[in-house]
Amino acid sequence: MTECVFCKIGKGEITPKKIYEDQNIIAFLDIFPAAKGHSLVIPKKHYATLLDIPEMELKELIQIVQKVGAAVMKATQADGFNVLQNNKEAAGQAVPHLHFHIIPRFKDDGLKLALGSKQSEEKELVHWESLIKEHI
Ligand code: AMP
Ligand code: ZN
Repeated sequence: MTECVFCKIGKGEITPKKIYEDQNIIAFLDIFPAAKGHSLVIPKKHYATLLDIPEMELKELIQIVQKVGAAVMKATQADGFNVLQNNKEAAGQAVPHLHFHIIPRFKDDGLKLALGSKQSEEKELVHWESLIKEHI
């Protein structure tokens, strides 16, 4: 018996508010939404993070992220949306089963999903440019 909550959703053992389903993928409403219509898209198979899913399955999944993103935008009449995807605890991943968040955004909604606010120094950028390129 598996303990993973999203595996249980994939197997139909837990029934979320489902908005899309096919053979390999399910999308449903997040129960602790950051905004109305906040949705999650998951593969039914268990992959812990983005680094674990095979490329072909990821292609299918990201197409559904696009489809659900468009539907959520229309349904909520949002002004925009964020696609958020956390990998590992340090990055805020609470459920260790790969998932994409689709979070509708409204002008001046005050939601804080902030990125850096301090511009990097040139030598720092050059350092990370060369080091990351070595690993591509
Ligand atoms: P993360 O922090 O990226 O792992 O996000 C996990 C998300 O899953 C959170 O936003 C939770 O609210 C959501 N969540 C956890 N359990 C359920 C569930 N049974 N049904 C719907 N959403 C869930
Ligand atoms: Zn799982």
